[in-house]
Amino acid sequence: MKRILITGGAGFIGSHLCERLLNEGNEVLCVDNYFTGNKQNIIHLFDNPYFELIRHDVTTPFYAEVDQIYNLACPASPVHYQYNPIKTIKTSVMGAINMLGLAKRVKATMLQASTSEVYGDPQVHPQSEDYWGHVNPIGIRSCYDEGKRCAETLCMDYHNQNNVAIKIVRIFNTYGPRMHPNDGRVVSNFIVQALQNKPITIYGDGSQTRSFQYVDDLVEGLIRMMNSGSDCIGPINIGNPGEFTIIELAQKIITLTGSQSQIEYLPLPQDDPMQRKPDISKAQEKLKGWNPNCNLDNGLQKTIEYFKQIIV
Ligand code: NAD
Ligand code: UDP
Repeated sequence: MKRILITGGAGFIGSHLCERLLNEGNEVLCVDNYFTGNKQNIIHLFDNPYFELIRHDVTTPFYAEVDQIYNLACPASPVHYQYNPIKTIKTSVMGAINMLGLAKRVKATMLQASTSEVYGDPQVHPQSEDYWGHVNPIGIRSCYDEGKRCAETLCMDYHNQNNVAIKIVRIFNTYGPRMHPNDGRVVSNFIVQALQNKPITIYGDGSQTRSFQYVDDLVEGLIRMMNSGSDCIGPINIGNPGEFTIIELAQKIITLTGSQSQIEYLPLPQDDPMQRKPDISKAQEKLKGWNPNCNLDNGLQKTIEYFKQIIV
């Protein structure tokens, strides 16, 4: 049994990770300030005596004896991370410093949830880990992109200077049950709109692409990365390389829900990346046997079933 700290554990991805690590017989400390997460996501874990929930903001130091730290605390949807951009970048930067400081003191391994956003609006396709990215440092997405880039830098510096055991994972667009219905991300928006027969809001002409990964595949990748050898520190891409235009996604969701929704075109937000697809050869090689297992149709079906239960 390991003692495992998960920051952002009451959020979408964090709640799945808490559940999986508890099921594997670990003790889980879930730290969250409930900015975008909520107790409902983890309420089913409250009866487990090895689960502990702590209201805490990672921009301030946290003290606990733990073996592993998954640092997931940070709003992930553009709508939420742009709501208070200064707080967003503080969360990434101060959060990483505080968690790396904790890892250093207690000799824990720290896994940083980084993002495909470090590649910005990529000029290399698909994106492999050696691509340095094409990020606007002063745009509306910068608080998130640059905060995550800085968190990666901090991980490498704590590793090189203080010998802290680190793991950096670049997560590509992930979806599944427990996304917030008002999260603002494309999969949740489209499913909620389709189930309510409201217009499906496509930003721009919908020709931009994303690669969508089902949450269980990500959680498997995160756990394998955390428990990989000390030579495997990343950064490593975890995503599903299936690439779809936003129009294709809308059409799939309309078909799977049997919706009457029409498509409504709205302006494309500033700096919205035109294409995104992970090169996952490094993950396949280093995290032996890891591969995304859930295709988009199956993952969407499970996510639609979840949203049917929570929206009226
Ligand atoms: P989410 O918004 O559902 O979860 C983030 C959690 O962090 C929430 O529970 C929120 O309350 C908490 N949080 C935010 N600021 C905090 C703070 N200052 N102190 C403590 N807790 C705080 O988002 P998610 O999709 O579950 O994302 C989890 C992590 O994965 C994030 O770090 C995100 O950047 C990263 N990521 C997600 C995706 C994706 O597609 N979902 C892609 C790339 C990276
Ligand atoms: N998008 C859209 N309609 C929506 C929400 C998002 O067309 O209601 C687009 C958005 O402009 C982007 C893509 O879908 O091109 C993915 O957006 P999301 O916010 O999910 O993730 P990110 O842009 O961070 O990859």
